[in-house]
Amino acid sequence: MTGTVYKSTGSWYTVKTDNGKVYECRIKGKFRIKGIKNTNPVSVGDRVGFSVEKNTEENRGIIERIEERTNYIIRKSVNLSKQTHIIASNIDTVFLIITLNNPPTFPAFIDRFLVTAEAYGIKAVLLFNKIDVYDEEELLEVKYLAALYRKIGYECIGISAKTGKNIAKVKNLMKDKVSVFSGHSGVGKSTLVNAIEPGLSLKTAEISDQHQQGQHTTTFAEMFDLSFGARIIDTPGIKGFGVVDIEKEELGDYFPEFFELKPMCKFNNCLHINEPKCAVKEALEREEIAWSRYKSYLQILEGEEEHYRKNNYSE
Ligand code: GDP
Ligand code: ZN
Repeated sequence: MTGTVYKSTGSWYTVKTDNGKVYECRIKGKFRIKGIKNTNPVSVGDRVGFSVEKNTEENRGIIERIEERTNYIIRKSVNLSKQTHIIASNIDTVFLIITLNNPPTFPAFIDRFLVTAEAYGIKAVLLFNKIDVYDEEELLEVKYLAALYRKIGYECIGISAKTGKNIAKVKNLMKDKVSVFSGHSGVGKSTLVNAIEPGLSLKTAEISDQHQQGQHTTTFAEMFDLSFGARIIDTPGIKGFGVVDIEKEELGDYFPEFFELKPMCKFNNCLHINEPKCAVKEALEREEIAWSRYKSYLQILEGEEEHYRKNNYSE
């Protein structure tokens, strides 16, 4: 049998077949050995092959294989074990919900989020919420930001979860796809999800894994079927969308407008900082690249350097 993992508790996995039949599955020991770095070798969103257990309670199975993932998001444990944990996989679209105020979403945060999405290989869409309360100046700001991010290839939609404005557009993008919603607390994630699918409320509480208590806390994701043929993965753990390890040299590749120009830089390992004949800096001077994007790039680079220094000290 083949199905999709909808829920995981760390030892049991809820698997739904394409016909909608639900099985509670366990994994074979060998997966645990193979996935020694991961506490959870199987994640929500995985396509798995499983066998149905005979002579036991109804609808129980054993997962025997995992199909190759198109992508996955990880969460690093904060303790010394430095374990990584796959929280969800096979995500088509990640929606970032943005508000200008109450709470503010700063460009640096948006850029960091987009870098992470690029590194994970997940399509990102920006939703500017609460446009029903913005004054003229704020609407201009939304327009400016949307134009900035559209220019570099990201879809942007101004919405109001409250009035329903452009929610149909969002639903259209979600149809037949697996989506994740992200954004600061208070931007309207719950309100939006409710506007998309009345009655659906997603968990936000953290669930701790009993077996790992005291040394490791895990947040489990869960997938939901929506009435119009879309699926949502609820992942409380990536509210801020985790930061992935990115090499300094590859960071620029996750800024699409930098990546495009890189072949025109004099040095093929150009970091776009002080190198001569840097196509990125030239474009920046011509104002073809936004300063806010370049600033975010430098900030992330600095953060990475700090990260390396810290890691070297502790080892
Ligand atoms: P979450 O923390 O991201 O889940 O945010 P909530 O959905 O709880 O929303 C936070 C607050 O913003 C609530 O008071 C909502 O009523 C309000 N809110 C959400 N979306 C909109 C919107 O489109 N317009 C307005 N005016 N308020 C909104
Ligand atoms: Zn360069």
